[in-house]
Amino acid sequence: MARFILNSNQQPNGDNEVHNATTGCNWMPESQNQINLGEYTSCHGAVAAAKATYSNARTNGCIHCCPACHTT
Ligand SMILES: [Zn+2]
Repeated sequence: MARFILNSNQQPNGDNEVHNATTGCNWMPESQNQINLGEYTSCHGAVAAAKATYSNARTNGCIHCCPACHTT
């Protein structure tokens, strides 16, 4: 299991990115911009949970730490 966070700041393209807080990421947002998503076996569960909670957000996996969930 790994802990994932959602960046509360949108990327320039409008996406809100999910990062893996257990492995860490060089592109992790500032701590005040991290929304804790909880622990999941993969980024897919974390992205699905983020989409369910923040239905208005365009949620996407970070290309660096969640490449399997990066779509745009
Ligand atoms: Zn990342």
